[in-house]
Amino acid sequence: MKIKENYSLLKFNSFRINVSAKFFVEVFSVSELVEVLSENIIKKEPILILGGGSNILFTKDYGGLVIKNSIKGFEVARKTDNDIFIEAGAGSLWDDLVGYCVNNNYGGIENLTLIPGTVGAAPIQNIGAYGQELKDSFYSLNGILLDNLTLKTFFKDECYFGYRDSIFKNELKNKFVITSVTLRLNKNFYPNIDYSALKEEIKEKNLSKISIGEVSKAVRNIRKRKLPDPSEIGNAGSFFKNPEISSALFIEIQNKFPNIKGYTQKSGMVKVSAAWIIEQCGWKGKSIGNASVHINQPLVIVNINNRANGSEILYLANQIKDSVKNTFNIILEEEVNIV
Ligand SMILES: Cc1cc2nc3c(=O)[nH]c(=O)nc-3n(C[C@H](O)[C@H](O)[C@H](O)COP(=O)(O)OP(=O)(O)OC[C@H]3O[C@@H](n4cnc5c(N)ncnc54)[C@H](O)[C@@H]3O)c2cc1C
Repeated sequence: MKIKENYSLLKFNSFRINVSAKFFVEVFSVSELVEVLSENIIKKEPILILGGGSNILFTKDYGGLVIKNSIKGFEVARKTDNDIFIEAGAGSLWDDLVGYCVNNNYGGIENLTLIPGTVGAAPIQNIGAYGQELKDSFYSLNGILLDNLTLKTFFKDECYFGYRDSIFKNELKNKFVITSVTLRLNKNFYPNIDYSALKEEIKEKNLSKISIGEVSKAVRNIRKRKLPDPSEIGNAGSFFKNPEISSALFIEIQNKFPNIKGYTQKSGMVKVSAAWIIEQCGWKGKSIGNASVHINQPLVIVNINNRANGSEILYLANQIKDSVKNTFNIILEEEVNIV
């Protein structure tokens, strides 16, 4: 374990932005992490924890210590008649954990197949896709508080999970390092295929019984068709969250745009599709400099030929936000972490 100086982060972010960190270290165990955090050289430096870098936009060099979390591995922590508890190291790849659960018929995260990144980042924004969210299977997590280096466990109620949100994105942002996550999965698999694209994909197969493997495969197929692969073109998935607006604003918009679809939430707010809104503003496939709105999925901003810098991506994102505000009176919120 060696702390490197002026280290390039190009390989460590899926947007493929070429910035560097003043200090950089990769840790493979909790004891290595504690050792690094106790080093005098970095005590006064700001700290950024990095997993797979698939939900980050770097807009400049990072003037502090980047800690790449590579604490890997997973194990069965406990079993009951119906449930199985799996504890996974925060640096394990999320999709490896999904694959392990799917292969063993442990249900609960199969709809979250192929989401890039690490297990430790999954609770940060309560990852979700195709009608499932991390919080549905989450049991607890362990980590270290950066200000006093004490270990702390958080159970589900303490995480304040919301739509792409948690306490770790708010009060505890950059103040807590997640080292492991424990999920509670079902030994008896119940398919959750209410999400329309997933239902359609599975219906086409005409299956008499839907296995966990089929659900995972269907999600994989849809995602491969719809989303740009970060190994081919830099991106960080959805750039913005789907906005939730008041019912009064929804009705006002519906009068001008009768095709808009809204989903009323428990709070009474109406969730609308950010992709649809961005498309209505004419952004689908449009580029500014080396940054572009993806041609098939307007919620994704891509780095053309991996030549853009972070400011170019951010400039395009801000132009989109301005036009959405002017056309719909909606303020889009970024899903990606801007650093
Ligand atoms: C093609 C593509 C598709 C995607 N699809 C989805 C999707 O369907 N649903 C979805 O929810 N997301 C999606 N994402 C976003 C992303 O994959 C997830 O947010 C993922 O959880 C990020 O993991 P990461 O390890 O790459 O996190 P990073 O980008 O490394 O970090 C994200 C944030 O978490 C913090 N962090 C990371 N690890 C830790 C830790 N151990 N302790 C404390 N803080 C930490 C970082 O400081 C940062 O603020 C997609 C991204 C891409 C590129």
